[in-house]
This record gives sequence, C-alpha cells and structure tokens, in this order.
Amino acid sequence: MNVNLISDTVTKPTPGMLQAMMSAEVGDDVFKEDPTVRALEEYSAQLFGHEAGLFCPSGTMTNQIALKVHTRPLDEVICDEMSHIFQYEVGGYAFHSGIGVNLLRGENGILTAQMVDAAVKPRYDWLPISRLVVVENTCNKGGGSTYELSAIREIQQVCERHGMALHLDGARIFNALAETGESPSAYGQYLDSISICLSKGLGAPVGSVLIGSHAFIAEARRVRKAMGGGMRQAGYLAAAGLYALQHQTQRLTEDHEHARMLETTLAELPWVVGIRPVATNIVIFDVKEPHTAASVLAQLAEKGVKASAFGPMTVRFVTHLDVDRAAIEYAMEVLYSIK
Ligand SMILES: *Cc1c(COP(=O)(O)O)cnc(C)c1O
Repeated sequence: MNVNLISDTVTKPTPGMLQAMMSAEVGDDVFKEDPTVRALEEYSAQLFGHEAGLFCPSGTMTNQIALKVHTRPLDEVICDEMSHIFQYEVGGYAFHSGIGVNLLRGENGILTAQMVDAAVKPRYDWLPISRLVVVENTCNKGGGSTYELSAIREIQQVCERHGMALHLDGARIFNALAETGESPSAYGQYLDSISICLSKGLGAPVGSVLIGSHAFIAEARRVRKAMGGGMRQAGYLAAAGLYALQHQTQRLTEDHEHARMLETTLAELPWVVGIRPVATNIVIFDVKEPHTAASVLAQLAEKGVKASAFGPMTVRFVTHLDVDRAAIEYAMEVLYSIK
C-alpha cells in the first residue's frame, strides 16, 4: 500500500471536483471577465463577512500581497518565529515589501494579546514602525495548533489601539473551524485581511484567496499583477476551489481523527519523543538516537509510507482526503514495525 503523509497539498481532485472544473464557465480574469473566478472571490469574501476576494496561484502570493499592501518600507510585521511568512516564503517580506520582522515565541506558534502588546515598538526615528500583526491558524510548524476566537479578538483590540492591521494566514483555517465549530464570519469580523488555501486540506489542485475590503483588494489586484499573478481563463481552477469550499470542508474532522490515531500509536513507541499536541491534521514528533529523521523516513518509505523531515531529528505527518482509514491503519502497523 502507498500512504502519502508528506503534506495535505498532495491530494488529487475528486470526481465531483473534476466535473466542476470541466464544466466551468470561463473568461479572461485580467479583464475581470471570468465568472467562475468572480463567483469564487465573492463566495469566499461573504463566507468571512468581508467585501471582496482575490484569487491567486498560491498562499505565498496571497500572504506576500497582504504584507505589501498593509505596510511601507522600514515598517515591521509582528509574528511568531514559527510562522510561514518568516520560515517558508524565502524572506519575501524583505524582498517585496522592504520590511523587517519582529519575531515572538508563542506556544506552538500561537500568540497572545499580551505578547503582541509588549512587542509593539515605540515611535523613534531609529526604529521600524510596527504596522502589521500576522497570526497563523492553524500553525503548520506548531503542529497544526489552533487559536481560540477570544484570543484573536484580544489581539485585534491591541492592533486597534496601536493603529496596526491584523492579517490571518489561514492556509488551514477550515481545519481550525472544523475543530472548534466556529463560523468563518465570527473570525472575519476581527481581521483586516485573510489568506485561505484551497490546495491544502480542501483538496483543490491550485490556488488561494485573499480576502478583505474593496479598497484593500483593489490595491492587492495591482500588486498581484506586478508579481505576475494575473491569470486568464483561471475559472477552471477557481471551479475546483469553489467546489472544495462547498463540498469538502465538513470532512476535515475525519483527517483530525486520523492524526490522533497516529498520535496514539507514536505515544507507544520507545523511539519517539516530544510529540507536539495534535489539534488538527498535523503530527510533528522527534525521534531518539540512534534513529534520525532520515533513517525513520527511509524505513517508512521501504513499506510505502511517505512523510517529511522537519529537522534532523523531527518528522511530520499530515493527514488529508486521499488517506482513508485503511491507509492510516496500515501506516500505524508500519510504525510499530520500526525498531
Ligand atoms: C502552505 C502554506 C502557505 C502557502 O503555501 P503555498 O504553497 O505558497 O500555497 C501559507 N501559510 C501556511 C501556514 C501554509 O501551510
């Protein structure tokens, strides 16, 4: 059996999604003439109680556009040291926006209002201006950790007090919402902008949507074009995303259950230490010597189970819609066989 736990980005379109893509009505989206792209943008924005959306090729692009629109050169963004915008976007905050980062150490990537408040820089000529806060929910490197809605509200209050904007890197916000049962619009009210990924747990092949006010998205559209992200008959891709939002968010709790099954197995293995608390669909753990992440991955791969290294001694599993219960049970068996 082959079980791919490398990422929730590895999924292939479901038959219903492919059908939606094949029958999509399309046009040239640079001229705002693609009805399916517009439908996806409107649907996403409304879901979070916002005015407008912008379909982009990737979550890196939606995040980077948000940083660019919210800040000016010599500003800084406050975020956790584990955050995707700092760790995995090639330092794009400096490249595209000419800004710095003010890194905090939250609990598994989750910030508190007190931490953010204490990090805001006073206004001196020799300091960057703290202009933007980014929260990541769920936090990838934090092991799929989630925010309480009340924590987001408190952070928003700090932002308002200091004249800072608040952006959500919501690549996996639907995993968080599936777990807490909260509505997207309850979240949206506290945020100036939101990035959602359609190509992670939701199972679309490509795409992210940036969400915000009309004025914010109008500017974001210009930045997207400058970054080369203006797409033409993108409705074929938007159709997949729209289908994902409408049909594939409810099943995410299944992935979370599978992640907890893997966690339970790992907790029984003598060569596993430091399993990060499993909150959603990501399982991160360390291995003990003489094992290394590479040696464990090699043994797993021999039996058809793929995972990724998150450090020399750290392994990550991500569950998703192409891994069913039987596949998880098989992966558990393989884990037990590693000595
Ligand atoms: C995947 C991811 C992104 C965006 O990644 P792309 O591969 O560029 O779509 C952004 N933030 C987080 C937390 C992610 O996991």
